[in-house]
Amino acid sequence: MSRVCIVTGGTRGIGAGVARTLAAKGWQVVATGVSREEVEGFLAGLDADLRNSVTARVLDVTNDLDVRNFFADQARVDGLVNCAGILRRGEEYDLEVFRQVVEVNLTGTMRMCVAAHPFLAETGGAIVNTASMLSYFGGPQVPAYSASKGGVAQLTKALAVKWAADGIRVNAVAPGWIETEMTRGLREDKAREAGILSRTPLGRWGQAGEVGALVAWLLSEEASFVSGAIYPVDGGYAAA
Ligand code: NAD
Repeated sequence: MSRVCIVTGGTRGIGAGVARTLAAKGWQVVATGVSREEVEGFLAGLDADLRNSVTARVLDVTNDLDVRNFFADQARVDGLVNCAGILRRGEEYDLEVFRQVVEVNLTGTMRMCVAAHPFLAETGGAIVNTASMLSYFGGPQVPAYSASKGGVAQLTKALAVKWAADGIRVNAVAPGWIETEMTRGLREDKAREAGILSRTPLGRWGQAGEVGALVAWLLSEEASFVSGAIYPVDGGYAAA
């Protein structure tokens, strides 16, 4: 029987890259996105050879009932990848926006982890959360995003310690600057882009599949003694 992995935010950007990588490596993937339009667009664009390995559903990780109903439909879960995330550059000093960003990125991650826990305890599964360079650095335009991603890193460690006894490993990836919709505005601003690329030792934007490769390894048996770790996938950004 194939192992089953849920990928939130799995119908766009980094999450879609993760979903495709996992499916190509033999996982059965349930990818989720926040809107029907996004989910349908993802399914329509899937390569024919992956169609039997990937299903996709609408899921709002801020909604308790949605999450409960989603897990009620799952027979088994071996992996959970929390990729759903938002960023509201320049708006996050507004407390309502601050709350909303933390609710998706941090509380949404926790909500999914708690709901998946009994399934993962059954299968001895693993979780991969999505941290960020802003788990380490301060982002003056994005205080909520920075706080939420610092929180995701610490949440990852706390759950890794707590759930080790259940045979569940919990890790996070910390992507650097990846070419997705979230960073489109930065790529279109040539001065900002030049600053980012000159600060990145490998001198280019990362691709979603490059994050997917690390996630796949963290979920695999090859990482059987790896838990509570935050792995940069950043072209050397954090080292420079
Ligand atoms: P993206 O905007 O392309 O995709 C975000 C995904 O999150 C979408 O699939 C969307 O449906 C989903 N989402 C948003 N709100 C949701 C909600 N309430 N419930 C469920 N799903 C929701 O962004 P991306 O660049 O692919 O980012 C994916 C993850 O990687 C995020 O957690 C982001 O913070 C993180 N990240 C991105 C970069 C980067 O450079 N792109 C760098 C570091 C970390």
